[in-house]
Amino acid sequence: MNVNLCYGDAYARRAETRVAAVDTTTEAPLVVLEETIFYPGGGGQPSDRGLLLRAADGRTWTVKAARKAGGETVHELEPGTEPPAPGDILVAQLDWARRYTLMRTHTALHALCGVVWRDYGALVTGGNMEPGTGRMDFEFERMSGDLVDEIEDKVNRELVSARDVRVDVLPREEAFAIPDLIRTKVNLLPPGIEEVRTIEIVGLDLQADGGTHVANTREVGTIHVTGYESKGRINKRIRIELVDPG
Ligand SMILES: [Zn+2]
Repeated sequence: MNVNLCYGDAYARRAETRVAAVDTTTEAPLVVLEETIFYPGGGGQPSDRGLLLRAADGRTWTVKAARKAGGETVHELEPGTEPPAPGDILVAQLDWARRYTLMRTHTALHALCGVVWRDYGALVTGGNMEPGTGRMDFEFERMSGDLVDEIEDKVNRELVSARDVRVDVLPREEAFAIPDLIRTKVNLLPPGIEEVRTIEIVGLDLQADGGTHVANTREVGTIHVTGYESKGRINKRIRIELVDPG
């Protein structure tokens, strides 16, 4: 099983590693590394992109996407390229500008969730993001155009108050004992899962989450709520963007 450092250290942008396995049966070759920093996607956060560099001959490969397959993080190369060989020593390097913007965007969405839950009692039902923009769906019957500015102000007040963002891994039982976690996705976790990773914006929001986040909300800057849509009488979708996408 390969080691993925991104869950413990979202700021790791480079790792020296070795090729564990290569799959060339697909159009785009797939590479498993002994150790990686590529986020494989999930929870609304797209997978990372980046490069693999082989110091021995200076060859580089573009990593177009990563994903989880059989518990491993698999790196997808450009179609038709000849992949590195098992045992090759490589440097894996993220497209850091893109990833860091995704971290800021993801944390901003959690701040939005925290505010909407705390002040309006609305449950989140889903979300998605691209670098610098994102959306969240809520069970938020009384959402209205008038609330957009109010929500934006409240979220920005939380972001600029420089709240720390903590990553924790809790035993399943302990995680289930936290009432606020149940409002999100922990109840959708497969029964076999032993541990639950949590992201806490200290004093604002606590969620079960697999993504990568900034360490403090001040890194997000501020957001615009760019609009909302009704997805039915109760379900509302709120869209945000980072004021400075970086
Ligand atoms: Zn999340």
